[in-house]
Amino acid sequence: MEPTTGPGRIQLAGRTVQLAWLREHSTQAAPLFARARAEVGHARCLCRLPALRLVIRCTRAGRYHVAGWPGEGEQHDPNCPFHKLAPGLSGRDRYSTGAIREADDGVFIRLATSLTSPLDQPETRDAPPEEPSRDAGARRSVGLLGLLHWLWEQARLNVSHLQEGRLTWRTCHARLCHQLRDITINGRSTDEALYVVPPFTPAAADANTAALDAFRARLGRHGMTERRALILGQIKDVAPTPYGVAYRLAHQRTPLYARDALHARAARSYRHAFGKSAAQHGATRIALFVVERSPKGHLSVVDLAAMLTTGTYMPADSSYEVVMADALAACRRAFIKPLRYDSADAVLPDFVLTDVTPAAYVEVYGIHGRESYDRRKAEKREFYQRQEGQLIEWDVTQPLPVLARSGWRGCAPSA
Ligand SMILES: [Zn+2]
Repeated sequence: MEPTTGPGRIQLAGRTVQLAWLREHSTQAAPLFARARAEVGHARCLCRLPALRLVIRCTRAGRYHVAGWPGEGEQHDPNCPFHKLAPGLSGRDRYSTGAIREADDGVFIRLATSLTSPLDQPETRDAPPEEPSRDAGARRSVGLLGLLHWLWEQARLNVSHLQEGRLTWRTCHARLCHQLRDITINGRSTDEALYVVPPFTPAAADANTAALDAFRARLGRHGMTERRALILGQIKDVAPTPYGVAYRLAHQRTPLYARDALHARAARSYRHAFGKSAAQHGATRIALFVVERSPKGHLSVVDLAAMLTTGTYMPADSSYEVVMADALAACRRAFIKPLRYDSADAVLPDFVLTDVTPAAYVEVYGIHGRESYDRRKAEKREFYQRQEGQLIEWDVTQPLPVLARSGWRGCAPSA
């Protein structure tokens, strides 16, 4: 008999169903969703007992799905799709409800970068000035890196599980697209506002080309404004052109073009993603681009954010963290990479191990003798003392510490 509780099992109006089934058959399950919403007001996650509440969302298109209950993510089993790190362990906490508004009919994001530019005025890159916030210190809009981190976190691409095999771009694309279905960015649906580069296969090549052409056709002049949109993909290489650079993406033949000045700024702002060491250790880099259609029909980049990841798309803040993330995976540890979003100053652990209770923390120390870095290290140690979790530290001038759980046999490099 199948267990009635455990990660991935949902109770909806008294019926127990698999989350995977619900996601694939949301139309078929619509009457069940509607009943649960009217009679109970929420769904229940059975990863643990007593069951935890889940929000039932219905998009304006009438599509139902379930989402984690705000503020209860930490209580779910670490293997549950609705599990979230404790408050204070994600840059997500720094935004006001105006920046990321989670409502019953979807998630509404206010992006700091404008997705339209007026044709009759000098260009403005940013959204209108923010209103003064009552929520002191909370950000009122989301930057590009913040949005990239938010998407990664929502799709649980910063979570490493034993059960999952090696993560591919196909999985990333599927999970990101699933999350995007009920998201509105600056008042535009993500179908219009954001294109996630689909995985290439010879069979899908024509469909992919048609999808990119349709996306490109929606850009350009609309009345007195120039319409822009976002592209999310993996940068394969950056090649010089007579006017700047071409970003060549994995899985996509069409490159994106940028001026030298923009690329130089991006390389400074995201130095780990664009640094030489990124190419080592099988690392890769993911970027979120704001693009316009040039008069000749090319896709030209007006802004971007980039993030370094391991070869299996686990974000890392440096090449040393890439080494650590791969070593943790080789030791079959379950872990989460906390993401800082737009807050460069956020004090977060480098990794959180979720297969021990309480959770343990991993810190990678790569720089020596810099005052600001030493101060940050001290701040972090204080933070762990408050959290009462075990702390595993790696000074990169030394060999890696023991990462295997006690009682487990050694670690093997992942396939
Ligand atoms: Zn759960």
